Order: sequence, then C-alpha cells, then structure tokens
Amino acid sequence: MILVSACLLGLSCRYDGRAWPEPALQEPVVRGKALRCCPEVLGGLGVPRAPAEIVGGNGEDVLEGQARVVNVQGQDVTREFLRGAQAALRLARRWGIKRAILKSHSPPCGTRHIYDGTFCGQLREGRGVTAALLRREGIEVWNEEEWKDDR
Ligand code: SF4
Repeated sequence: MILVSACLLGLSCRYDGRAWPEPALQEPVVRGKALRCCPEVLGGLGVPRAPAEIVGGNGEDVLEGQARVVNVQGQDVTREFLRGAQAALRLARRWGIKRAILKSHSPPCGTRHIYDGTFCGQLREGRGVTAALLRREGIEVWNEEEWKDDR
C-alpha cells in the first residue's frame, strides 16, 4: 500500500476546489494499493480555501517551530498543517505504509521544492510539512514525477 496525495487521484481538494489527476497513478488505485490522503483537509481546512505557503523556512523548520504557515490573507494556519501531517502519519502507520507519492511543490506535500512564502510562484528547496514529518519517521516520500520516472 502507498499513501498518495488525494488531489493526484482526482479528489477536488486543492485550495481552488480543483484536482490534479495523475494518470500514472491510476494503476495502484485500480489494484487497490493506493490510500488517498489530503493533509490540509485532514488538518481541518475547507475546500475551497485561501492558498497558504511556508514563511521563513521549510517543512522541517515548521516541525521544529522555527517557521510558520500563513495563507494569502495573512492568517496563520501552522496548527492546521501540523495537525494534517500528524493525521497522515497516523494513516501511514495504521496501514504499515512505507512509501508516499505526494504532490510536488505544495506546502504540505512537496518533496523537494516548495513555494517560497512570497506568493509569487517562486520555489525554494525543501519539503512540505507532511512530507518532512513522514520522511523523519522513516517513510519514503516521492513526488509524482519521480514516480513516473521509476515506471
Ligand atoms: Fe491536499 Fe496535498 Fe493535494 Fe494540497 S497537495 S490538495 S494538501 S493532497
């Protein structure tokens, strides 16, 4: 079983109410090997919602209390992001999951690069909050492009 960002599996859970379906991930879905997970929704945020970015660091920094997550309206949503990351980790543990395929660049799900906190579409190196927590707990985190390249 793999944990997969729900928007990659066609769930309309993005901040703008849309999905980002990734056809390459349909195979594990069909085989019943993919578990959908949207950390932002699990953390208590609604759909649609104001977009949020990590300010002052990356997901690891948020876990350490050294950076925060703020939405475009200036509201601090760090607590919701941390709650969502913990919920994703609980799901992974419950199902014995060792690998997650997460949406690239997203503040919770990004595995290599995330938006830089300026809401200008710029990226910085680093993982999102959920990706950082899963990785810290020994779960492999891949993004959808790495998954496709590995097929
Ligand atoms: Fe949810 Fe992650 Fe997709 Fe954002 S990138 S909508 S948190 S699954």
